[in-house]
Amino acid sequence: MQNKEYVLIGNPLIHSISHEIHKRLFELSGISRNYNLRQLDPETFNEAVKDLASLAGFNVTIPYKQKIIPFLTTVDERASHYGAVNTVKCDGTGMHGYNTDVDGFLKALSQAEIQLTGNVLLCGAGGVARMMASEALDRGCSLVIATRTFSKASKCANDLLKHYPTANITPSTLNYLSGSFDLILNGTPCGMHPNVQDCPVPAAVARSAGAVFDAIYNPYETRLLARARAAGAKVQGGLTMLVWQAVAAHEIWEGSHFEKNDIEHICDEMRKLIKNDI
Ligand code: NAP
Repeated sequence: MQNKEYVLIGNPLIHSISHEIHKRLFELSGISRNYNLRQLDPETFNEAVKDLASLAGFNVTIPYKQKIIPFLTTVDERASHYGAVNTVKCDGTGMHGYNTDVDGFLKALSQAEIQLTGNVLLCGAGGVARMMASEALDRGCSLVIATRTFSKASKCANDLLKHYPTANITPSTLNYLSGSFDLILNGTPCGMHPNVQDCPVPAAVARSAGAVFDAIYNPYETRLLARARAAGAKVQGGLTMLVWQAVAAHEIWEGSHFEKNDIEHICDEMRKLIKNDI
């Protein structure tokens, strides 16, 4: 009999709301499945991965999005391009990896009518930041990549230039940023609960942006977003991305399709679960 259990693997998972989102999605699609949180310790990760093949599928979050890849039977093209997998489908042929963070990211931008175009500032050089960088470069954006230490931005820029040799990519440091950008993308946890007063970029940079997307979903509106919105920018936070990446996972796992209104309703429900306002 086919296993009906899905899990999220990561560490820590204490603040995760993913199980609530997936529970609602399974209810909506009328499919009876369990979705549980499974925190894995780094020391026992290699052993624990063996048990995952018997599941129906699983999601992957920090710090395993890259580490899971060698254990997978296949990795789809986009996930392979970003070097990050967040969704795995298990079947008789093995474990198959995908990246649905990108679906959530692009949906979140389009819902807020934010164009991925022009002069873009990307904060961070981790998994989500690199996915956002690739999507921006695919659309011909020029990119300033800023991290806390210049060397990490520089390494990320060099890695990207191998895939996009003619791209306009400038490494920088978050604290010393100046100027204005058509779009700011935050792929760092700076401003996330409990450090809700933090902002990854100087206030003047936040206030002069045309639009801002922040991958953080707790708080619902970060200080970065609040500053940009008050100055008239289009803004979008990470909750919409989180919900829509889960929707894309259900399409892969079960072939489910959902109405936009139903998903927006889930976004509203999940927003109520997040209480850490700035
Ligand atoms: P990651 O791979 O660990 O990358 C984090 C990046 O942020 C690194 O470049 C890191 O640089 C930098 N950073 C860490 N702490 C910082 C701080 N206090 N100030 C400035 N930079 C800092 O993590 P990730 O998976 O890309 O996730 C990044 C963020 O996106 C997290 O907040 C996560 O919750 C969020 N996220 C949201 C969704 C969604 O669906 N909404 C999905 C995935 C992730 P250093 O090397 O200097 O530490």
